[in-house]
Amino acid sequence: MTASSAASFDATAASVAFRSAIEVISAVEPRVAAAITQELADQRTSLKLIASENYASPAVLLTMGNWFSDKYAEGTVGHRFYAGCQNVDTVEALAAEHARELFGAPYAYVQPHSGIDANLVAFWSVLAQRLEAPALVEAGVKNVNDLSEQDWTTLRRAFGDQRLLGMSLDVGGHLTHGFRPNISGKMFTHASYGTDPETGLIDYDAVLAKARQFRPLILMAGYSAYPRKVNFAKMREIADEVGATLIVDMAHFAGLVAGRVFTGDFDPVPFAHITTTTTHKSLRGPRGGAVLAQAEFAEFVDKGCPMVLGGPLAHVMAAKAVAFAEARTPAFAIYAQAVADNAVSLAEGLKRRGGKLVTDGTENHIVLLDVSSFGLTGRQAESALVDSGIVTNRNSVPQDPNGAWYTSGVRLGTPALTSRGFGAAEFDRTAELIVDVLSAATPSSAASGGVSKAKYDLPAAVAEKTQAAAAEMLDANPLYPGLDIS
Ligand SMILES: *Cc1c(COP(=O)(O)O)cnc(C)c1O
Repeated sequence: MTASSAASFDATAASVAFRSAIEVISAVEPRVAAAITQELADQRTSLKLIASENYASPAVLLTMGNWFSDKYAEGTVGHRFYAGCQNVDTVEALAAEHARELFGAPYAYVQPHSGIDANLVAFWSVLAQRLEAPALVEAGVKNVNDLSEQDWTTLRRAFGDQRLLGMSLDVGGHLTHGFRPNISGKMFTHASYGTDPETGLIDYDAVLAKARQFRPLILMAGYSAYPRKVNFAKMREIADEVGATLIVDMAHFAGLVAGRVFTGDFDPVPFAHITTTTTHKSLRGPRGGAVLAQAEFAEFVDKGCPMVLGGPLAHVMAAKAVAFAEARTPAFAIYAQAVADNAVSLAEGLKRRGGKLVTDGTENHIVLLDVSSFGLTGRQAESALVDSGIVTNRNSVPQDPNGAWYTSGVRLGTPALTSRGFGAAEFDRTAELIVDVLSAATPSSAASGGVSKAKYDLPAAVAEKTQAAAAEMLDANPLYPGLDIS
């Protein structure tokens, strides 16, 4: 196994463990056991370029299947609403300690069940820290239970009319950053900043101008489809200038922060008042979320439960502790650097073969390919690639003429295949395969006349040849080498 591939593990022990687990499950519901087995087979044979996905280590996976799943532990370490939480305390404290050390954060809260939960915790803690606390002190009230109906009405009004400024969805922002279909868009009056139409890059002067005009309570940074680094020192300057609280959502790129690929002005943790993350994307942990905070927000972040969370998932917190421990090893830093280097190789490979990229390149784990130059919509490109054994997802490009459903782009990410051991050569070959497929695909004519945005023709020979080439690379870089569950 190469240094950049998934965390090393004892293949014999892991094979026994998973084989036994599947046998036990099979005795109760064999169809579930079969689906689990099939999922591994499918993942092993998939050229996965989904930018938000990865492969957790056997240690992380095995840590989730045990008795911690049965325990209620509402509250915080040492202050639980249930008896018998000593072992949950142990793993939650370990996960938080590893997270603080890994990211150099004064405070870490590891209970959020997902990225969206982490953002909800962050939003409510900002509202509480900025609004509730001063209002309570002013009212001479120390305890929320002492609030009168009138106090609550006042607080509800104050909570309900706050402003959030985040990155626009159509240049790579995330739904949870104030957009209507999400609760954040209903909690906050929302405005967004875009990117420069020429370069596709964040224009910090434009963000500042927008912030001065909008005067948000919260300035939100972070993305799920922006292929560049963000200067968080500048974002903090902007927040300070308008008196906003800076939340950075590093859900996508936490692995690059953990692996010290993003340092200095590009490391969000020292600059953000609160940093939120998922743990399962580039960070390669269990499915979950976490919140890092400066000291003044800690007591408010701690109220995540009961404010927006119920009982923590102790089995997942245990797995977070294991994943953070893995991410603190030198091997993880090598992995993270390889993720970024591989993205450059993929981007250069696409460009060299005529591909057009949003921002003309990448500085992280994401490459956003504008497929309009192939005469296709994102939806057609996504489907033609899947037919050829290449898994991506369609994504809008800035000012997308095809809207959010059909789109004009595909988003490609390197974390998962890098975990398998793919290097620069494999990503260059992947770029070649992608260009071959997209060059061979053509839009079909629509029933109404004109050109379809969904249907396409792809010569079977191209799809088959690409599948074979992809399979060859996958075979040479096996997922979980030596893990045998048959
Ligand atoms: C993935 C993502 C989330 C949501 O994470 P879930 O665990 O799916 O809830 C939030 N913010 C950003 C920026 C993301 O990329």
